[in-house]
Formats: sequence, structure tokens, C-alpha cells
Amino acid sequence: MQFYNLKHPEQRVSFSQAVRQGLGKDQGLFFPESLPMLDASELAELPRHQRYQKILSGFLKDTFSEPTLSEMIAKAFPFEAPLVPVGPHFALELFHGPTLAFKDFGARFMAQCLARLSDGKPITILTATSGDTGAAVAHAFHGLKGVRVVVLYPEGKISRPQEQLFCTLGDNIETLAVEGSFDDCQALVKAAFDDEELKNAIGLNSANSINISRLLAQILYFWDLALTEPNLVVSVPSGNFGDLTAGLMAKAMGAPIKRFIAATNSNDTVPRYLANGQWQPHATVATLSNAMDVSRPNNWPRVEHLLTSHGWSLTGEAVSEADTKASMQTLQILDYLGEPHCAVAFKALLNNLEDKERGAFLCTAHPAKFAESVSTILGIPVPLPKALQDAMEKPNLSKKLGNDWQQLRRYLLLQA
Ligand SMILES: *Cc1c(COP(=O)(O)O)cnc(C)c1O
Repeated sequence: MQFYNLKHPEQRVSFSQAVRQGLGKDQGLFFPESLPMLDASELAELPRHQRYQKILSGFLKDTFSEPTLSEMIAKAFPFEAPLVPVGPHFALELFHGPTLAFKDFGARFMAQCLARLSDGKPITILTATSGDTGAAVAHAFHGLKGVRVVVLYPEGKISRPQEQLFCTLGDNIETLAVEGSFDDCQALVKAAFDDEELKNAIGLNSANSINISRLLAQILYFWDLALTEPNLVVSVPSGNFGDLTAGLMAKAMGAPIKRFIAATNSNDTVPRYLANGQWQPHATVATLSNAMDVSRPNNWPRVEHLLTSHGWSLTGEAVSEADTKASMQTLQILDYLGEPHCAVAFKALLNNLEDKERGAFLCTAHPAKFAESVSTILGIPVPLPKALQDAMEKPNLSKKLGNDWQQLRRYLLLQA
């Protein structure tokens, strides 16, 4: 299957090119030329990994052989995404991977793809993270030969456990603490991708949520959810809107999902846009759900494309800090330990369910990743899982970087 640039539909590339390039001409996003329709009842019969294979091979059968794809799936997804009842609703837990966040799904599958598509050429993965992408990408690529990983993150704006998870790995993983916001980090990454000379010199590749290979992996757990409990309203806690894109793609392929709610924190560009049709990003503000502190969500063109091509509408809801805390307390009463991101999704779900509708909300991170705010808000200690405990004790290997494109450019070239 070919993938085309949403900004310049005449630019069509193979999956291999789309993965290695990340972005198309004019920073356009790649999108599959078709979304293969699948039979839900047939898929429901298959064991999990075979089901994943069936879903992915619709996109990838001319890129990887069936045995290769099967091996990639086994390596990328050794953990599950359980659907846990919470009152009359369901929590889709996406944090059972090695870095305790849903980004493990996309990052691990992307690493499997790139390792097989690089033709032995050196690769530099440059990515910006608002917290969890960095850890997921760093772990997914850690120790992979011929791949250099450089992660930018906003200094002081992510939690310490988050930082420790990816800034302590060393080897082929370099981490840069940028004096600025996540949007600044994203702008630096975009500038690097606009620089053809640099791109060729270091084999630049992005591993953030714009990479199509990550989205394909994320489609899988929306199918898991839809086959376990059909016809739910699904609330997606959103930052860059990659997760919501994958959910809409699953629905377009025939996954029985009733509709979606786009839940954001106070960085509410999308809910305001859905209400008044005006795209007016404000300055990014720091919130409890900091992995969603994004005011210029880079996957939005894909979401918009899916909505308009299917005639779907989307409900948007921005959840305040006070409501996020209250929502965590509601979850606690329902006997569920939530962290701020899933609490945003839960609140948006409760606010928008109609009579007789049942819903699910995505739990994108383990509560221990946000132990500080969780224990303050809920008044209980949150035990750290072993992986996190170990990381907390290691030295942080990050270097500092100004919010300065020339400085980053020099760094990337000098160390190459
Ligand atoms: C990245 C992230 C999100 C937002 O996901 P997008 O695909 O960028 O919308 C939500 N929650 C957590 C914990 C995350 O790490």
C-alpha cells in the first residue's frame, strides 16, 4: 500500500519511505491511501497477536513477509491492553509496557519497522517529548545498532520519574533539556526536518506521533477495545491527537465504536475549534496532565481528514485543573486509582454521555508516573513499580540546550 501527503496528495510514497521520512513535502502528514475494511466477528475469533497481524497486514503486506510481521508483533507487543470495569464504564489501560505509558505501543513497533527498513545506513532519531514519548522512544531504540537517538524535552516541565525513565539510559540515547516549552521543542524538531543538508548528513528521522508506523500500532488497541465491548463512546485524552487519529482509523476500518470524545486539559485549541470553527492556538499552559500540554496539535490534519471524509462529527471538551482533581477523586470512590490524564478523559466522558450510552476512557499512563500529584490530590502514597524505582536512583545524563535552532544544529552535526 502507498501513503500520500495530506498537504500534497500527489506525493505518494511506500511505507518504508513514509517511516524513514516521517514528514512529507511542506511538513505534510502521510496517510494510507485506503483503510482496509475488516470483519469484526472474524477478528474477534483470533488470538491477540494473530488479530494484530490481520489488521496490520492490510497496510504492510507488500513491505514485510507474514513471518517477519509476526516476529515484529511478538517483539513489539509482549504486553496487553486490558479493559477494566469502572462503575458502569470501562478503563482501557494502556500502561502495561516497559515505560508505563501508551506510547510504548507506537514507539516499539516503529523501532521494529525502522530496524528492518534502514538498509544499514546510519539513522538519527530526533524527537521532542512532553514526557512519555521520550521514554518510550528511548527504550524502544536503546541498544539498536546504527541508531542514534536525540530526545528534546522542556526543562523542568515534566515529572521527575518521567525524566529519570529516559535520561538515565546512556549508550545510543542522548537527552537534551531545552529552556522552553514543549511547543518550542517541537518547533526545533520541525526546523531540523526543514534542513535538507542536515537531514542527509545525519540520516534524520522523527519518532514522534507524526510517524505513520506509530499510528498503525495504536489502531490495534482500539480494535481490542471495540471487540471486547462493542458500541462504546470512547473518550481520548489528547495532546498531539495521535491516539484519537488511530481510534478514528480503527472505526473507519469497521471497528464497532459508537463515537469519540476529544478530551483536553486547558490547552483547548481543539474544543474551541470544534465549537466555533476558529483555529486559534493560545500560548501553552502547564497543567497536571502535562503530556497533553500542547496547543498546536500536530496530528490534527489527519483527524480533520478522517472526520470530513466520513462525515463524522466529534465532541470536544476541555477539562479544568479543578475538574481534573475532582475527577481523580470520583475515580477513587469508584475504587480506581487514576492519574491526571485518564481523569481528564473520564470527566469529559461523564459530561458528554447521553442516556443509555456506555463509555470507555483511555488510561494512557501508570499512576506512578505522576506519583507526586496523585498522592497529593488523593492523600494516599503511590508505590513506584520496580522499573521506575531503579531509574530514580540512576544519574541523569541530560545536557542543557537553549531554545536556539543554531545551537541544536551544531550539536547534531558535531556529535555525528
Ligand atoms: C502523549 C500522551 C497523551 C496524548 O496523546 P496524543 O496522541 O499526543 O494525543 C495523553 N496521555 C499521556 C500520558 C501521554 O503520554
